[in-house]
Amino acid sequence: MISQHRREGPIVTLDGPAGSGKSSTAKAAATRLGFRHLDSGALYRALTFGLLRSGLAEKEWAALGEEEFQSLNIDLETTEHGFQVLVAGQEVDSELRTPGVTEHVSAVASIPASRNSLLALQRRTGVDGRLVADGRDMGTVVFPDAEVKVYLIADLKERARRRLKEVGECSPDNFKIARQAKALDTRDRSDTQRSISPLKKAEDAVELDTTGLEFEEQVQAVVDLVARLTLF
Ligand code: C5P
Repeated sequence: MISQHRREGPIVTLDGPAGSGKSSTAKAAATRLGFRHLDSGALYRALTFGLLRSGLAEKEWAALGEEEFQSLNIDLETTEHGFQVLVAGQEVDSELRTPGVTEHVSAVASIPASRNSLLALQRRTGVDGRLVADGRDMGTVVFPDAEVKVYLIADLKERARRRLKEVGECSPDNFKIARQAKALDTRDRSDTQRSISPLKKAEDAVELDTTGLEFEEQVQAVVDLVARLTLF
């Protein structure tokens, strides 16, 4: 639990399935609000990157303890608008988005010791408030006392189209959309069915369906919600 320390502003959480636009929406909303943005998915990706780089066989990962995950030395450096992810002191960005990391990250995130190893680090980012945090369990586990909780959803095909657009595929054919949708769906199933911190809507979260919304509209919807629920 976060201590009694008085925050300088609210914590806003955005949770939801893969490709629902959480990170880009959270980042843009944070900029507009003058808050910092935490992309918690990047931390699970960093753990996965660290494990793949360590050369440890994949079948050994599930038996690792919290200390072993800690020894991968995942950290966050505070920047002007958010946080830079570090793995053993090295800045990582594009390394976290490789197909290899994306393929393995849900399995890593379903190991209880991996989640525990990242909990204190994530909570430290919210000590002073003024934070927009996105992920799968921001409103349910990491920041259960957040002032504003949003659960973003969008139609699976629409999410697949958006993901493809992010990687430069602006008019993909039906085959590509179906293949991408299947990959997102596989990751969602793993994230919603795991026993620890599964992806689910917090009871006090507001659901925002972004299927028919333009990016700008979904950012504005989050900013409006913050204004409605807090003094910001
Ligand atoms: O948000 P992103 O797609 O980068 O997250 C990668 C993976 O990290 C997710 O599929 C999920 O398995 C895991 N994750 C998680 N809890 C979070 C954020 C991400 O389990 N808070």
